[in-house]
Amino acid sequence: MRTTVGIIGAGPAGLLLARLLRGAGIDSVVLESRDRAHVEHRQRAGILEQGTVDVLRAAGAGERMDREGLRHDGIELRFARRRHRVDFPGLTGGRSVMVYAQTEVCRDLIALRTKEGGPLLFEAEALAVEGADTDAPRVRFRHAGREDVLECSYVAGCDGFWGVARKAVPASLSRVFERTYPYAWLGILADVAPSHDELVYARHDRGFALLSMRSPSVSRLYLQVPAGTEAGEWSDEDVWGELERRFETTDGWRLERGPITQKSVTPMRSYVHEPMRYGRLFLAGDAAHIVPPTGAKGLNLAVGDVVTLARALAHEKETGSPELLDAYSETCLRRVWQAERFSYDMTTLLHRAPDATAFDDRLQLARLERIASSRAAGTDLAEAYTGFPVG
Ligand SMILES: Cc1cc2nc3c(=O)[nH]c(=O)nc-3n(C[C@H](O)[C@H](O)[C@H](O)COP(=O)(O)OP(=O)(O)OC[C@H]3O[C@@H](n4cnc5c(N)ncnc54)[C@H](O)[C@@H]3O)c2cc1C
Repeated sequence: MRTTVGIIGAGPAGLLLARLLRGAGIDSVVLESRDRAHVEHRQRAGILEQGTVDVLRAAGAGERMDREGLRHDGIELRFARRRHRVDFPGLTGGRSVMVYAQTEVCRDLIALRTKEGGPLLFEAEALAVEGADTDAPRVRFRHAGREDVLECSYVAGCDGFWGVARKAVPASLSRVFERTYPYAWLGILADVAPSHDELVYARHDRGFALLSMRSPSVSRLYLQVPAGTEAGEWSDEDVWGELERRFETTDGWRLERGPITQKSVTPMRSYVHEPMRYGRLFLAGDAAHIVPPTGAKGLNLAVGDVVTLARALAHEKETGSPELLDAYSETCLRRVWQAERFSYDMTTLLHRAPDATAFDDRLQLARLERIASSRAAGTDLAEAYTGFPVG
């Protein structure tokens, strides 16, 4: 099998890249190790930055998002049982975010790809990228019980944190920057209308909590729990009781309970692999970097990477110049490190470390007071949350 761009992974990065390349007249093949149902039901991100929304619309993949997504003009910070709203458009000159689940973004992109004839191979597991530093890289993969080879001009490693593409970069050239955290998120999906119409980020002496939503009738809620916690350790009653404690306010705000339909634990990690390019292999999305989910940046970074890559490949096709491809890693990493910084700041602002002292608690509250009382500090948060420029 032969194509111009071999794409490993049908997460948001791989699917959107295939879509953008198609728009630029560049053919590609997408290999995805899991089946379609798995990819379409994997619960993950839910917040799309303004730039991501604009890219999906321009790619012709925004129709259902515009119908069913929920535009959000702010978030609430909750601390010391008080509430402070961060007004995005007011602080950023009109920017906002969209609540539209990653599952739905993937479903829309898969539907477009299959309607237009693919190729998108599910249950096709890439085993290795070979010859990345030559003019003819290859992806060895297994599909329908048989091993096969995809011959390419370029390979895009969009296969997430646990994929194989990153392994093709020689260890002598790789630099890894990493931090793990001593806590994780216990996330639930519940069939109940969200108790607030915007996301609520709560800092509490017992730990962080987040109120989010998937639709007007489905709530997504998270609790900070110790790293290594199993979802089964928490009964539904315990989850609701702890959420109520952490969201409690002085003004009588109430959290509505409902049937919990899913419970899972997400570890927290910051990770960057440099460089994001080796020869004709380009890493994009979680394959190259991970952020803790507190800043809602992971999916949006993946989108930024593939926009940059698609633009660079189109430029090379039109002009014959590899200058944008040569700049790919550096261009992406500028944005990646801003997102790493913001995600780290939000995480340490709101979570309580197991060894936190009374001094650390006071500092967190002072940082939150600063955001609540200073337009400059509020603007800094709002600008980062609604997103850094794409590309
Ligand atoms: C609980 C949770 C909440 C989150 N919340 C947010 C949020 O609010 N906002 C935000 O922006 N981000 C959020 N994120 C992060 C976001 O989900 C990821 O950053 C995003 O999925 C990255 O997309 P990707 O396409 O790079 O990787 P992935 O979505 O991981 O896709 C990679 C794909 O590659 C496939 N694959 C792996 N190995 C192979 C192989 N060998 N061969 C073929 N295919 C392979 C995988 O099956 C997968 O489909 C959250 C993540 C979690 C876990």
